[in-house]
Amino acid sequence: MNKIYQTAIIGGGSAGLMTAVELVSGSDALKGSDVVILERNDRVGKKLIATGNGQGNLTNLNFGAEFFYGNSNFINAFIESAKEINLIEYLKKLGIYTFANKEGKVYPLSRQASSVLDTIRLYLNKRGVEEITSCKVNKVEREGNKYKIQAEGKTFYAINVVFAFGGAVAKQFGTDGSAYALLEGFGHKCTKTYPSLVQLKTELDKIRGLKGLKEVAKVTAIKGGKELMSVTGDLLFTEFGVSGSTIFSLSACVVDKEDVTLKVEFLPDLNQEQIESILLDREQYCAHLQDEYLLGLINKRVGQAVLKAARSKCAKDVAFALKNFTLNVTGNLGANYAQVTKGGIKTDYVDENSYQSKLTKNLYIIGEALDVDGDCGGYNLTFAFVSAIKCAKSIKQSIR
Ligand SMILES: Cc1cc2nc3c(=O)[nH]c(=O)nc-3n(C[C@H](O)[C@H](O)[C@H](O)COP(=O)(O)OP(=O)(O)OC[C@H]3O[C@@H](n4cnc5c(N)ncnc54)[C@H](O)[C@@H]3O)c2cc1C
Repeated sequence: MNKIYQTAIIGGGSAGLMTAVELVSGSDALKGSDVVILERNDRVGKKLIATGNGQGNLTNLNFGAEFFYGNSNFINAFIESAKEINLIEYLKKLGIYTFANKEGKVYPLSRQASSVLDTIRLYLNKRGVEEITSCKVNKVEREGNKYKIQAEGKTFYAINVVFAFGGAVAKQFGTDGSAYALLEGFGHKCTKTYPSLVQLKTELDKIRGLKGLKEVAKVTAIKGGKELMSVTGDLLFTEFGVSGSTIFSLSACVVDKEDVTLKVEFLPDLNQEQIESILLDREQYCAHLQDEYLLGLINKRVGQAVLKAARSKCAKDVAFALKNFTLNVTGNLGANYAQVTKGGIKTDYVDENSYQSKLTKNLYIIGEALDVDGDCGGYNLTFAFVSAIKCAKSIKQSIR
């Protein structure tokens, strides 16, 4: 006779692991042996340890609905949940102490995402939660009042099932989008998905020869004359277009749109008039300066590209070109290079407070699997953790 778990969690990523943590915590805790995590990789938390360049950008002090994409009611409810839970305090109780950098990005004090995974696993192992790895779930069915969960050569039964299988990008971490199909039989549909937080492809003529060069700039994404988003920071030129922190952030509002242009403003600490005045000053002490106008102000080769784009080589036009260097976006580098999925399981049929399906009882969907994505800066882990904690609290409540 097969064991019937109280809760089976499909996916041992950030959301799945945090669900297990909350399930076995507090006065209403489930027994660890009543909870099982089913993970297709040979280890749980493979993606978690790669986050934030291995440092784990867990959340952000600057927090609000404006940093997330998806259904606004669903996101507003999540923001309320996040306030109620206070993730930084929650992590501290688990033994994960954090600090915030000057941009508000929150990391573990150890600066090691792997230490976050180790702490969570220690907590779960101590409480006897079962972790079954190399276990790719390929079918889930309702059988009476329980779920039958089938993986290669194995069958599991559980009263509650939590779908925490992630999205459709970064397949090297086990997330290739194939798991969306597990929910089809329950009537849960997936939206079109896009890779997000990813490098962008652009027209190449204007930036040929700049590969590998990095500048600090303000970059604005524009569509149909409307500014979508502006970010100031690193801009890296690549062989296919642009990358760097500005582009990762902007990509969140670009990847699902066509005909987007990037406006690059170099020398973000100086305005156009100040630059023009600097250039005119230079002319004073050196005639025929035009080709060297930008020497010492920005990288020489980037300067040459800007001069090429300027209407003329007079100070006014060059200053304008420095503040209005445009690049048309032609695509992105794709799912293998992206950090998060834009799109996912539609949220219309998922309760925004409990994360329980509105179509099938005791079925929960959390984390990146859902059609919610966040900006760069710790927002996606925040959604994974908070949706997990809320879902687990709701499961415990339903058992009480
Ligand atoms: C390189 C990189 C860096 C990132 N850095 C950050 C960062 O610093 N801050 C931030 O907020 N976000 C970051 N993200 C995004 C963040 O990691 C994810 O949004 C988050 O991990 C989503 O959590 P999740 O649990 O929903 O999905 P995941 O963490 O992707 O976990 C899903 C798990 O489900 C498993 N799975 C899938 N299908 C099945 C199946 N059929 N059966 C069993 N198991 C299955 C997968 O193997 C995986 O382990 C980063 C992403 C990447 C790729």
